[in-house]
Amino acid sequence: MTSRMLEMTWQKFGEKMRNGAVVILPLGSTEAHGLHLPLGVDVITSTGFAELLAGEINGVMAPPLVYGYKGETGGGPIYTGSIELNAVTLINLVHDVLEELVADGAKKIFIMNGHYENEMFLLEAMDLITRKYPDVKIVESAWWDQVDDELIEQIFDEVPFPGWTVEHAAIAETSLTMYFRPDLVHMDRFVEEEQIRVLNYHVSPLKREIYPSRGAPSTSRSASRKKGELMVGKIMQGFLKVVKEEFR
Ligand SMILES: [Zn+2]
Repeated sequence: MTSRMLEMTWQKFGEKMRNGAVVILPLGSTEAHGLHLPLGVDVITSTGFAELLAGEINGVMAPPLVYGYKGETGGGPIYTGSIELNAVTLINLVHDVLEELVADGAKKIFIMNGHYENEMFLLEAMDLITRKYPDVKIVESAWWDQVDDELIEQIFDEVPFPGWTVEHAAIAETSLTMYFRPDLVHMDRFVEEEQIRVLNYHVSPLKREIYPSRGAPSTSRSASRKKGELMVGKIMQGFLKVVKEEFR
């Protein structure tokens, strides 16, 4: 049986809400991810996890939000195809979707984020909603929040871990995309580039000269579907623990 809201009738969705089902809202971005990955990586990964989680807990996966906040270390605006929202738009978009879900009876909502730069604005939308509706609980998490040191060691066995801010279009995202949508990964197009120079400050406009020409700030050498599978298994355990802790 489908857990996708878009594939349910309104009656079925209403029934799930009356039964207290958790609604999982996947979010990502439309952003360049090197030459070997598609623009939708952040949506593909968050939707992949959201659907798995919805299946495990008999929840509902709300339609994914495919645009996100401006990428920084990913170099969003530098590359074509990155369609980015202003923060106010993102806060309002997420706020309005959450409020509609609440109006339809949702009391337990899990925001599954797939794009690093979204996070603070999601927290803002969640806060605005739960102040207004105190009987509603909203959780936010991203797959990288569920990766522990042991898993980091397993994934970054050949290449040192560069930190999550620059792990963009790199080993973790590539391995996960190989798991969820292997047909969209083209490792033959991957070219080893110099690691992005990470600044210890923020600057606007972005410094074009520190970004790699192909759009992958860290290497994806040693990415594999096997690593993707390992990650999905462990990350799902993490998400299930969060659900048990917060929505039992
Ligand atoms: Zn990404």
